[in-house]
Amino acid sequence: MPFKKVLIANRGEIAIRVMRACRELGIKSVAVFSGDDRRSLFYRLADESFLLKGDEVSDTYLSIEKMIHFAKKSGCEAIHPGYGFLSENPDFVDACESESVKFIGPAGATMRKAGDKARIKEIMAEHGIPVLPSSNNPATSDEIRDAVARIGFPMIIKPSFGGGGKGMKIVHTEPELEDAIRFARNLGQSAFGNPAFYIEKYLQAPRHIEVQILSDGRGTVLDLGERDCSVQRRHQKLIEESPSPALTPEMRCRAADLAVKAARAIDYENAGTIEFLFEDGEFYFLEVNARIQVEHPVTEMVTGIDLIKEQIKIAAGEDIQLPRGACLCNGWAIECRINAEDPENRFMPSPGQINGYRSPGGIGVRVDSGVFMGFSIPSHYDSLISKLTVWGRDRAEATARMRRALDEYVILGIKNTVPLYRAIFREPEFLEGKHDTTYIERHLPELLNVVEKQKHKTQEQLLTAIFRDDRGLPVCDAYLADDEFPVFYT
Ligand code: ADP
Repeated sequence: MPFKKVLIANRGEIAIRVMRACRELGIKSVAVFSGDDRRSLFYRLADESFLLKGDEVSDTYLSIEKMIHFAKKSGCEAIHPGYGFLSENPDFVDACESESVKFIGPAGATMRKAGDKARIKEIMAEHGIPVLPSSNNPATSDEIRDAVARIGFPMIIKPSFGGGGKGMKIVHTEPELEDAIRFARNLGQSAFGNPAFYIEKYLQAPRHIEVQILSDGRGTVLDLGERDCSVQRRHQKLIEESPSPALTPEMRCRAADLAVKAARAIDYENAGTIEFLFEDGEFYFLEVNARIQVEHPVTEMVTGIDLIKEQIKIAAGEDIQLPRGACLCNGWAIECRINAEDPENRFMPSPGQINGYRSPGGIGVRVDSGVFMGFSIPSHYDSLISKLTVWGRDRAEATARMRRALDEYVILGIKNTVPLYRAIFREPEFLEGKHDTTYIERHLPELLNVVEKQKHKTQEQLLTAIFRDDRGLPVCDAYLADDEFPVFYT
């Protein structure tokens, strides 16, 4: 047992995911939750939980001070940050270190390097890892003119300290450039506290390929195969799979070798992801994600390795006891991010109450979620309802299984992306694995037509009737009484 107690500085499905790993390792878990999450499930599943008072996220899930306070108060030796929130904040890592609480993730110095997306590209290029032509924060009009001449159109402008696809703009002609730079700078400042930006060559139809790595910081860096995350909307991932249908065994080895080299270049420790764009047989380094990622279950399904447990063990100082990557991978896994969004209305967030819910099951099906019937998706946080992941012996079995699982999935009361995924898993280009990052943009109208046509045919329609009581009202599980749970207040 590496630690006795771990605080989870996060919410929702990832908090539950971390608790599950802790429980299997015999570690007690401590949850923290905001007032908006008062009726959420995740903190009730923890061994102890603490309310984070305050209306702003800076006073709750982004409060370094409170996380450390509750970790110490409850006697936790370590903190798991999940993804988002404080997970990539090097100040948090430093604060944990100075308070002698182990941060489950990479060192602050590594995180600082990874956080500057323009600078880390330069570091990778110095280590012989291919990068796209780019320019880091060109300041004067001369520098910008030089960058344009060297990189050529189309280009993409991005905030250097950004994430989540925010603030990025594609520029096809000179007159669009000024606005795009202003946009990246403003968004960089308002969302990430830094106006720095960079210009990069824009690839017209790449695939997004990323490699999961595990590193113990004492010389062992392991690659655990790649994930293909090319189904995206507005640069945000919707579907992820492992392995990638686009790679030959040689290309797969090349991606793995580049990723291990990249991790070594920045002395990476713990679990991390090296992202690449892939076009015409070449990989171009995109960024390092210095944390566990949303899509980690696909790697877990093909390797059988519990990545969260490995993170905890590495943080506790244990050596990695696993053989090298690709040979571990077995079969095919695919994940759909099920969001509370309305695909028929520009993916508008659709928070609100789930008044009918039945998740799929059966062989090879995994659901990571913090929702239940009667739960209201809060509007303050991301719109993730669940992650539906399936495993099959090959891609054909995995896609058929996903289609079956999606058809079983019932989510009533709020708009969600399940109907869109049902259409995608019937669309030939995707089924043949020939899609790239422009897939959703090119196919959306046709996919929405299928959604419309399927509306009256799905199992959901039948189950909608079952979920009604005699008066035609939706049936909800009785709400669990608050005092049934071990909640501690400050
Ligand atoms: P973020 O960190 O904000 O998610 P990334 O740099 O990781 O941004 O890029 C997110 C997605 O945007 C990529 O997966 C890809 O689809 C698209 N993208 C980013 N840079 C380029 C580029 N140079 N050419 C083509 N597409 C790009």
